[in-house]
Formats: sequence, structure tokens, C-alpha cells
Amino acid sequence: MLTTARGLISRAGKKLGLDDEAINELIKIDKEHLFEIRLGSGKTFSAYRVQHSNKLGPYKGGIRFHPEVDLDEVRALATLMSFKSAAVGLPLGGAKGGISVNPKDLDEGELEELSRKYVRQLRPHIGPDKDVPAPDVNTNPEIIDWMVDEYQKLTGDTTKASFTGKSVDKGGSLGRDAATGRGGMFAFAQLLEHMDGADKQLTYAVQGFGNVGSFFAVLAGESCPNWKLVAASDSQAAVYSPEGLSATELGNYKQDGGRFSDLKKEGVQVTTNDELLALDVDVLVLAALGDAVNSGNMGNIKARIVVELANGPTAEAAFDYLTSKGVVILPDIVANAGGVIVSYLEWIQNRTSEHWTEEKVNNQLEQYMIKAVDALCKTAQERNVSLKEAAFINAIKNLIE
Ligand code: NAD
Repeated sequence: MLTTARGLISRAGKKLGLDDEAINELIKIDKEHLFEIRLGSGKTFSAYRVQHSNKLGPYKGGIRFHPEVDLDEVRALATLMSFKSAAVGLPLGGAKGGISVNPKDLDEGELEELSRKYVRQLRPHIGPDKDVPAPDVNTNPEIIDWMVDEYQKLTGDTTKASFTGKSVDKGGSLGRDAATGRGGMFAFAQLLEHMDGADKQLTYAVQGFGNVGSFFAVLAGESCPNWKLVAASDSQAAVYSPEGLSATELGNYKQDGGRFSDLKKEGVQVTTNDELLALDVDVLVLAALGDAVNSGNMGNIKARIVVELANGPTAEAAFDYLTSKGVVILPDIVANAGGVIVSYLEWIQNRTSEHWTEEKVNNQLEQYMIKAVDALCKTAQERNVSLKEAAFINAIKNLIE
């Protein structure tokens, strides 16, 4: 992921006429904090915070709790955060954090101890004007609330602007839980405007019906009647119906702990993730994992448009192959930026002691998305490049100007 991210930056930088020194300056990481956290029980974990760039504003990026977290992954995600914020016009920098841990192996007390100790170690390097972390994989508002509380105890800061993704009653923003899926829907709708496809009927499949994928589909079901969801998947299986699926019903089924492999409904076929990717749909929404479409399966893709809601779901070789076949790929750094946009709106609310309505948050999110997609399409057309290259070009322009 780190190599792909740096390759994209380099490619876009060269299109802008930057020399190697300027490109290296964009790739260079400002600071890396690596430390061990030892719990009272004796369990010890490796922890990271990588601060890539604060050229545009305070460092910003999530904290991931996952056994596979390592320094290169955190470096890649920190780098992508700087470019994501820049591509959608936010005055924020890029960072990422993580602890190499499987949170399922810890009881609640240990999880709280781990979260608080992470903040204690990082205290001199984070804060509302320095670096504002947020939740990511396996971290949630409850964990962030412990972190904010710890930060407040250590520093006396009562603004709650030290972290975003808090519980709503503890300074979090309305609309944050749905923000990435909602932002993806706004971005895709705007892309269709540019492709003269806004009024056309289309079919789509969602790989990964989790937080992001399900909100995208449920909200699209409410406001985009021309889009027909025909397939969705979780990690085990996919469900498919050419007649169309109800995203709300599927969302409720998943929320009640259901697995798609066990779904029994007339007209709905249970199939595999591989078959979902190969469906003859207009749009493939990738909302599960990195490298989901790769050199092994890229030849099976029949969709004309790919929406990247996960981070890096199209591997570099697959991206080049699909682009050469005329597939339009709405890139992750814009398509899934809804989360960081609403995080930014949360941070503003904390700084100004305001609490906005969900409508106001969603309206602002939509404006950011429309502006970012318009800029993306303009650059792609003017420079005759893919939307992904255009996203990086726009981000670099913001970073260097
Ligand atoms: P999630 O854990 O809620 O959902 C992920 C979904 O993908 C689950 O339904 C899971 O069953 C499914 N899945 C896992 N492995 C799969 C596989 N091999 N094939 C098909 N499906 C599989 O996570 P999320 O928060 O929805 O995040 C999804 C992606 O979006 C991740 O790549 C994440 O980094 C990215 N992202 C999330 C946010 C956010 O705000 N949550 C913001 C930006 C990017």
C-alpha cells in the first residue's frame, strides 16, 4: 500500500512538472512515534503514530487496533490522509495511528487501560492544534471517549477538540456514523452529473455491507430511485437478486447478527464474493478491503464504473488494466472522504462550542463532496488523465500552493 501510494504521488507530481526533490518532499514523513504499551497484566503491545504532513493544518487521522498493524501500513495510511484532506479542500494534515493488538483478546478494563496509555505516551505530540486522532478499524466512540477523558486529565483541555469521533453526548457530531457512506453517495451522484447519467437507471453491487457499504446503499435507497441494488456481500458470501434488493432489509438483517450465507428469501440467490465482483452490473461499489480487485480477478470485472469506498481497494495493476478498458474509477481519496470531512466539522463545532443539527452537517458534507468531484472531473478533462490521477494532482496543487 505504501509503494502504491508513493507511486501515485510520484506519477501525479511528474504530470505537474515537479522534480524529484519536490516529489520527495511530498512523500517525506514528518515524524514517527513508535513505542511499547505495557498493561498491568504484563501484556505488551507495539504502538504507532505517524505524522505525515501538517502543511495544510493539524495532523488528522484515525487510530487502528488490529493484529496486522505495522509501521509500513501506518505510514501508507498517514500519507493517504494528507492527500485525502488536500483533495477535498480541508485545512488539515495527515496522520495515522495504530496498535498491533486483537481487541477481542482483551477484556473491557484492559481495552480502556490500553487506550488511556496510548494517549499518555503521545500527549506531547497531539492536541487540538497539533494532531487530532479519530476512530478507525476496531476503534469506536467509546474508545475515543476514554482517550479524550485521558487527554483532558493530563492537560486540562476541556474543548473536546483533541479527538473526533466521540459519542454525540460527549462532544461528537451528529451524522458522523453515516458520513463515509453518505459522502460516497453524494460523490457518486455528482460524478453521474458529469457523465450525463443522473437520470439513467443503473444497477449496482456492493462488496462489503458493513458500516460504509450499508449506509451508502440504505441512503441511496432513500434518495436515488434510479439506482438498483442487485448484490451485496459480507466476508463469507454474497446475495444477489436481479429484481433488486432492499438495502434497509439487508442492513437490519446484518445488524441483528445475520450472515449472508444463511439468508433465505424468495428470489434472492446466495453466491460468492468472486461472483459478485464478476456480475454484469453498471457499478461496482468496493467497501470492504484493500486490493479487493487485483491482477488475479481484474479480468472478470464487467462493471463500467467502480466506486472505491474502501481504502486502496483496486491494486495498481488492476487500476491500470480497468482504466485501459474504459472503466471509470471514482477514487478512494475523494469517494470515502466523508468521514474526515464530518470529523473536521466535529472539530469546528468543538472549537466554537456549537452543536449543529444533522441537516446542517449533511448539507456541508454534500457541498464539500460536490466541490471535490467537480474539481476532479475538471482536472481529469483538462489534463486527459484518470480521476485517480486527477485527485492526486488536485491534492498536490493544494499542498504546494
Ligand atoms: P466494516 O468492518 O463495518 O465493514 C466491512 C465489511 O466488509 C463487512 O461487512 C465485512 O463482512 C466485509 N468484508 C470483510 N472481508 C471481506 C471480503 N473478503 N469480501 C467481502 N466483504 C468482506 O468496515 P467499514 O467501516 O465499513 O470500512 C470499510 C472500508 O472502508 C475499509 O477499507 C475502511 O478502511 C474504509 N473506510 C472507512 C471509513 C469509515 O468512516 N468507516 C472511512 C474511510 C474509509
